[in-house]
Amino acid sequence: MNGTIGVTTDNIFPVIKKFLYSDHEIFLREIVSNAVDATQKLKTLASVGEFKGELGDLTVKVSVDKDKGTLTISDRGIGMTAEDIDKYINQIAFSGATEFLDKYKDNAQAIIGHFGLGFYSSFMVSKQVEIVTHSWKEDAKAVRWSCDGTPNYSIDEVEKADRGTDIILHIDDENKDFLDENRVRFLLRKYCKFLPVAIAFGKKKEWKDGKEVETDEDDVINDVNPAWIRKPADLKDEDYNKFYRELYPGQEDPLFHIHLNVDFPFHLTGILYFPRVRENMELQENKIQLYCNQVFVTDNVEGIVPRWLTLLHGVIDSPDIPLNVSRSYLQSDQNVKKISNHITKKVADALEELFKKERSQYEEKWDSMRIFIEIGILSDEKFYDRASKFFLFRNTEKKYFSLEEYQNTIKNAQTDKDGNVIALYATDAVEQHAYIQAAKTKGYDVLLMDGRFDTMLFNALEQKNEKLRFLRVDADVVDRLIVKDELRQSDFSKDEQEALTTVFRSQLPKMEKTDFMVDFQNLGAETQPLIITQGEFMRRMKDMAASGANPMMSFYGEMPDSFNLVVNTANPLVQQLLKDEEQACADQISPLREKKKKADEDITAWNTAHKDAKDEDIPQVDKEDKKTLEKEMADARKGIEEAVSAYAAGNPRVRQLIDLALLSNSMLKGEALSAFVQRSYDLLKK
Ligand code: ADP
Repeated sequence: MNGTIGVTTDNIFPVIKKFLYSDHEIFLREIVSNAVDATQKLKTLASVGEFKGELGDLTVKVSVDKDKGTLTISDRGIGMTAEDIDKYINQIAFSGATEFLDKYKDNAQAIIGHFGLGFYSSFMVSKQVEIVTHSWKEDAKAVRWSCDGTPNYSIDEVEKADRGTDIILHIDDENKDFLDENRVRFLLRKYCKFLPVAIAFGKKKEWKDGKEVETDEDDVINDVNPAWIRKPADLKDEDYNKFYRELYPGQEDPLFHIHLNVDFPFHLTGILYFPRVRENMELQENKIQLYCNQVFVTDNVEGIVPRWLTLLHGVIDSPDIPLNVSRSYLQSDQNVKKISNHITKKVADALEELFKKERSQYEEKWDSMRIFIEIGILSDEKFYDRASKFFLFRNTEKKYFSLEEYQNTIKNAQTDKDGNVIALYATDAVEQHAYIQAAKTKGYDVLLMDGRFDTMLFNALEQKNEKLRFLRVDADVVDRLIVKDELRQSDFSKDEQEALTTVFRSQLPKMEKTDFMVDFQNLGAETQPLIITQGEFMRRMKDMAASGANPMMSFYGEMPDSFNLVVNTANPLVQQLLKDEEQACADQISPLREKKKKADEDITAWNTAHKDAKDEDIPQVDKEDKKTLEKEMADARKGIEEAVSAYAAGNPRVRQLIDLALLSNSMLKGEALSAFVQRSYDLLKK
């Protein structure tokens, strides 16, 4: 018998081929899952007693016949009668496909990844498709349906003893690769790996007498009972790890897993894993696989789980995620939003439980886990609210604290005069050793914060906790990190400070894009003479610029690094240096200081006299006077600077002091370091 398929378009197959071009391979998933569905339906009928026969071996078999150019998918499921074919294949499925193509014909992107075009997707790769099927129903006659890609089909009775359906695809010339065994096996592994009915592709092979020979045993490519559909109570850690290896062969065992199981208000099952990450390893997104009733759909879960969770691994299986829509639609779908929120909540629950109940295990895993949680905190407000309770800080003694615990630990010693609790941190325990030591001597605790996103984390935490500040140990000299009462004032006069500023500035090694500000502070006789610090704000801005996280910040990246060179006025070496300098330069600079002082006073007097005068009312002579005074002042200053610089250049102790300060801050490198070493030997010889 012949007929015409109920479609409006003359020939929809060219349309199918064109639109689904980039996703041809999904036909195999569609046909195999139909076979699985038919098998599951038969099992259901058997379980309710409607089907009374023998179920027998229900394995779905896939085979390739290169000579005939066919790919065949055979099942022993419910099969179809001629009426079934008419109803499900000739009418309904077709009208569904036409409707679908009509709706999306302008949006090929939406079609790609569509799920459920079903049987007709086989025409993407076939010049002819045959269905040979024998229904489970008593007295049903086996039939053969055949269609060559035009709306005309034929249907005839045939001999087929066994129950079930063979779908025979006559692969067209452009798609010959689907006759390649390796390709077919690869696709079966990709899409059908966890289908609930055994899928066999050929026979298992074994080595015999130096040759590979086929055995009688089916080569089943899938695991019909994957871990995520089993009960958590029935699974041990080892089972979860085994399943992980099934998903990602060759990967190290994961850190931690979360078994998802939701019935309401949507259905979702799955297992998420925190992978073990090595330091400096690139984080990989899109490792989570999305399934729909155990059929693989995609490993691009963007829009379905929050972006930061795409860094996790594992599977999510939900029949409630609409798959036949574009991603932008997906993101606005209410159900998907609920799913996304729910997953976030589940992840937080699981982490909190581990934090509360298995603290030592949690701490052990923390260093590897932390990067995920940090990204989550930074990108997801809801997760922040939860995770700020179980985010751990590690101090330089390798002790772990939650934020609350830490604040309680340090608040006595580290609260400043304005009531801010100051958490001190180092990013490198080796390079910042001198500063860490200074802070500890002072009775402070120091955190070790060497994570990639810590700068952003500090910003976020400070925003949420008004009275909490993070300061790197080298952000200032230790006395000024946490200011509790008035600081001891420097006891050097203005002239002395100016002279010492010149002494040090003139001898600082020239470093590219680096500025130093010299300032004076009484830090006590025991503290080092010179200390180099870098303000917290600027360093953070530069960090952010360097991370490239925010293009608006790149302007900070262009700015020079500015450091403070803090001169400890109470240190005997500094006091001695000042004394030497004043003595050595006295003859030269005393008269210049006098001149400068005089010019300064005259300028002040001039300013007072002309205080209320408008610029245009001031007589030209007066203006000339002022210019002369200013020049005198500048000349005197220049003279002093030259004299002091010359002195500094001739005193190797100045460079030695500077280099020691740079060295303590791991800033002495290359040529400057070599010069320092040489000078040190020379000084020893004296
Ligand atoms: P869907 O699977 O989304 O319903 P399809 O176009 O893939 O759409 O299939 C249409 C119908 O044809 C199925 O619902 C089923 O009733 C029937 N069918 C397809 N393949 C088989 C099969 N292997 N065995 C029995 N029935 C099948």
